[in-house]
Amino acid sequence: MQIVKNIEELRSIIKWWRGEGHSIGLVPTMGYLHDGHKSLIEKAVSENDRVVVSDFVNPTQFGVNEDLSSYPRDIDRDAAICEAVGADVVFHPDPEEMYFPNHCTFVDMDRLTKGLCGKTRPTHFRGVCTVVSKLFNIVTPDRAYFGQKDAQQLAVIRRMVRDMNFGITIVGCPIVREADGLAMSSRNTYLNPKEREAALVLHKSLVLGEGMVHAGQKDAKKVKNAIRENIEKEPLAQVDYVEIVDVENLEPIDTIEGPFLAAVAVYIGKTRLIDNLKGE
Ligand code: AMP
Repeated sequence: MQIVKNIEELRSIIKWWRGEGHSIGLVPTMGYLHDGHKSLIEKAVSENDRVVVSDFVNPTQFGVNEDLSSYPRDIDRDAAICEAVGADVVFHPDPEEMYFPNHCTFVDMDRLTKGLCGKTRPTHFRGVCTVVSKLFNIVTPDRAYFGQKDAQQLAVIRRMVRDMNFGITIVGCPIVREADGLAMSSRNTYLNPKEREAALVLHKSLVLGEGMVHAGQKDAKKVKNAIRENIEKEPLAQVDYVEIVDVENLEPIDTIEGPFLAAVAVYIGKTRLIDNLKGE
C-alpha cells in the first residue's frame, strides 16, 4: 500500500490501473479512522479491484468558528488501518496541493443543503461538494462509498452525481455504532467521560421516536417533540435540530406514511454530534 500526497502521482497510478483493466473504488474520509470508516473501506475492497482512501481534513467544509485546527489527525495510524483492510492507496494531500492559493471555483446546490445541518453550517455542503467533485475528477472511481451516518451528505452527493452526470455509483453504507449505541465519529474523541455517557441520548431518543412510529403514531410533529423532550432531559445536551424528513429530498414531512429519516444534531458540551435513523 502506498501513501500518495501528490495529485499527478495519483493520476499516473490510476492510469496504470486503468491500463490493467482494474475497477476502482474511492472512500473519501477526513481521517482519524474508526470502525465506521473501516466498514466503508472493507466494502470497497470487496467490490473493486483497487481502492483509494482519501484522508484529507478539508478546510472548505469548516465554518470560521468550527474545529478545523483541532480536528484529530493521525496519518500513521490511518495508513496502518487502510493497509490491514486491503486498500491500495491512501491519498493524503496537503491543503496547498488540493487548493491553489487563488482557488475560486465551488460546487454548490440549491436544495437539500439548506435544511438540517445546512441551517447552522451554511457553507458546509459547498465545501463537501467541491472537495468530493475534485476527488472524483482526480480518482475517476467506478464506485464511491459514503456512510449513512452523514445522511444529508449522502443524499447531497447522490443528487450532485445525478445532476452533474459524474457516472459514478454511490454506495451508501449503514451506521456503525459502539456497543452502547453511540454512532462512531472522529469527534467522539472530544468527549470527556461524563459527556461520553450523555451522548447516548441521541441514539436512545431516536429509538424512542421509532418506537412511537411502530406503535402507530403518524404525526411527525408529535414524534419530533418526543425526541426533543427526551434529549432535553439530559443536562449536558443542547439540541441544534430534531427533524423528520423525506429520505430522498430531505424535505420535512408532516405525516409519516412511508420511509422517513429522523435526524438530530445535538451539542454535548462543546461537541456537536449528529445521528439519524431511517424508518419504514
Ligand atoms: P468523515 O471522516 O467523518 O468525513 O467520514 C468519512 C466517511 O465515513 C463518510 O462517508 C461518513 O458518513 C462515514 N462514516 C463516519 N462515521 C461513520 C459510522 N459511524 N458508520 C458508518 N459510516 C461512517
